[in-house]
Amino acid sequence: MESPQKQEKYLSRAIDLAIRNVDNGGGPFGALIVTADGREFEGLNRVTATNDPTAHAEVTAIRAACAGIENFDLTGATLYTSCEPCPMCLASALWARVDSVVFAADRHDAAAVGFDDAEFYEFFDQPVAERSMPVVQYTPVGTDAPTPTAPFEQWTNLESRIEY
Ligand SMILES: [Zn+2]
Repeated sequence: MESPQKQEKYLSRAIDLAIRNVDNGGGPFGALIVTADGREFEGLNRVTATNDPTAHAEVTAIRAACAGIENFDLTGATLYTSCEPCPMCLASALWARVDSVVFAADRHDAAAVGFDDAEFYEFFDQPVAERSMPVVQYTPVGTDAPTPTAPFEQWTNLESRIEY
């Protein structure tokens, strides 16, 4: 982890990005990826600007960083974000293998101005049967039923696969 002074410097950048983004048609969220070798990549929330519900600042920062370093693995990087990552962004950070996440405002601050971060966290705490959005595993019925694990067999047999 960086020193508290450096963390503050990077978080300050993320917060400035978030504030400027509001004036530029985006949501009040900004993020910064700092790679292991110190390169910095910015991310802005562009959900309404691009009609992309996944265009959260953390995700756009991860995309920019991966494009910039030409690798899907951000091991050694830190994600600084103006607000606590939602479950999607947290999962994106896990997939990107970032080392750590530092945030400023939290999910309750976001909820107070109308964002669903806290509600989506609660989704995972609810029993599966009571969740607002059903997620169910398909049950094969017909004799021509597809084999759910067929893609994995294809993958396992592919010698040129790139593990991730
Ligand atoms: Zn998010």
